[in-house]
Amino acid sequence: MTTTAQPTETDPTAATRPRHVRVGIIGAGFAGLGMAIRLKQSGVEDFVVWERDSDVGGTWWANTYPGCQCDVPSHLYSFSFALNPDWGRTYATQPEIEAYILRVTEEYGLRPHVETGCAVTSAIWDEANDRWNVRTEKGEYTADVVVSAPGPLSEPSIPRCLRRIAMPRPANPLPTMATWTWLGEPSCRVVCEGVAAVVSRSSVSVAGISFVSPRCG
Ligand SMILES: Cc1cc2nc3c(=O)[nH]c(=O)nc-3n(C[C@H](O)[C@H](O)[C@H](O)COP(=O)(O)OP(=O)(O)OC[C@H]3O[C@@H](n4cnc5c(N)ncnc54)[C@H](O)[C@@H]3O)c2cc1C
Repeated sequence: MTTTAQPTETDPTAATRPRHVRVGIIGAGFAGLGMAIRLKQSGVEDFVVWERDSDVGGTWWANTYPGCQCDVPSHLYSFSFALNPDWGRTYATQPEIEAYILRVTEEYGLRPHVETGCAVTSAIWDEANDRWNVRTEKGEYTADVVVSAPGPLSEPSIPRCLRRIAMPRPANPLPTMATWTWLGEPSCRVVCEGVAAVVSRSSVSVAGISFVSPRCG
């Protein structure tokens, strides 16, 4: 998908103009993709999904730590219009959920609408022209409507006390659930309201509850 209109013989300036879309969606996680599917089902094809990562999936693309799985039964954790009778377990693991999202993306023909590696850096409402001016890493757009679906957890929120631990090594930032490297069984686990600060012999990182208490299914 191109980010600017193609130049034509009659309009040589088209290449330098932002590409206009009816709807622009920020984020290709469950929320953004669900929005995209509903647009298609309503007959709207003039839309783009901007995704800063290299593929769709959001949470389930980014988090691959051992034991990563959903906290609610999988049958509830899927699109109502794309139920999955083939979940392998009650609480599906990350690879299964990611595979589900990829399948839905293909089945609903979303690929041509998705721009990966395309972080939105600003979206400013243009009152005079009744449209959004959107800047992305891949170029500029204008849009009648912008749907914000960047995810509640896609930006790590590092507690101040842990930030201090990370400070001395700026080139080696504090690992998060989405960025950590598996080093082996941690020697100590501290649980705090569903989120665990997992302290291993050589690293400090943050893991979800699924890492701390095993699921029944
Ligand atoms: C390990 C883990 C387990 C979870 N388990 C459950 C569960 O069992 N049940 C539950 O209800 N919830 C669970 N959640 C919460 C989960 O985040 C939501 O359920 C849901 O997946 C969020 O979907 P989303 O589309 O809103 O956000 P995300 O999946 O985070 O997707 C947002 C996308 O927006 C992209 N993005 C962000 N900013 C920009 C930008 N500026 N430009 C372009 N793209 C951008 C991100 O890269 C990301 O791909 C879990 C979260 C984690 C991390």
